Amino acid sequence: MTDNAVEFNGQTITKGDLLYEGKAKQVFATSDPAILWMHYMDQVTALNGKVKEEYAGKGQLNSNISNRLFTYLASKGVTHHWLGSVSATDELVKKVDIIPLEVVTRNYTAGHFVSRFGVEPMQKLTPRVQELYYKSDELDDPFMNQSQAISLGFASEADLKTIFALADEVNELLVALFEQIDITLIDYKLEFGRLADGQIILADELSPDNMRLVDQKTGKSLDKDVFRQKQGDLRVGYQDVLERLEDVLK
Ligand code: 5GP
Repeated sequence: MTDNAVEFNGQTITKGDLLYEGKAKQVFATSDPAILWMHYMDQVTALNGKVKEEYAGKGQLNSNISNRLFTYLASKGVTHHWLGSVSATDELVKKVDIIPLEVVTRNYTAGHFVSRFGVEPMQKLTPRVQELYYKSDELDDPFMNQSQAISLGFASEADLKTIFALADEVNELLVALFEQIDITLIDYKLEFGRLADGQIILADELSPDNMRLVDQKTGKSLDKDVFRQKQGDLRVGYQDVLERLEDVLK
């Protein structure tokens, strides 16, 4: 097999045209219309792409962490788009129509929740907070409420109920998993997509690029905040997260 073709479930999958390039991933068509080929880039951005840097090996770390988290969630019954790895940085995923909403769950105060509401950081939120943002780089992903999402036709009321219930299921599982490895899951962003039959499933990636993770022993960030706040090489924390996940999920 070449870099652009793999054996998957008894069929040869060939990489096709680039369909989408985001800030940290590329998505390609494949020879199977129900499957996409996702590539994790080494690029890291902050401030919606205004600050950009390359960190060799970051794509590999994120792909590895994401694959482990998707596999863990699948073992607990969560349906998602991840099908399997093709290489250290590439994976096959189910083709979905991405719903243009970012679903943020917050277990502790941080980031925009702190700046928006003037509260102290690292305060436990009970119950956890769920927020929606409109996924739009041009508009800087503005905050969006449920009636706006329904009125603009992004999701029905029933879809949103499904999405928030799935986000809660994922949250319970991820909080418990990270707790086992002495990491607090502060907040994170999920994306959901629709399969051809309309079923809504978890999509995108699950990595320290879109989560805040804090080491319970040292209080240090193990995620993209290290880059956002210019605290050093973000790969150190990502590698630490990966090693702890490898240990607990083996
Ligand atoms: P905040 O709203 O505080 O900036 O972000 C809340 C959480 O969601 C953080 O863990 C952050 O990494 C994640 N998040 C929110 N929006 C985005 C986004 O557009 N891209 C990525 N990668 N993560 C996001």
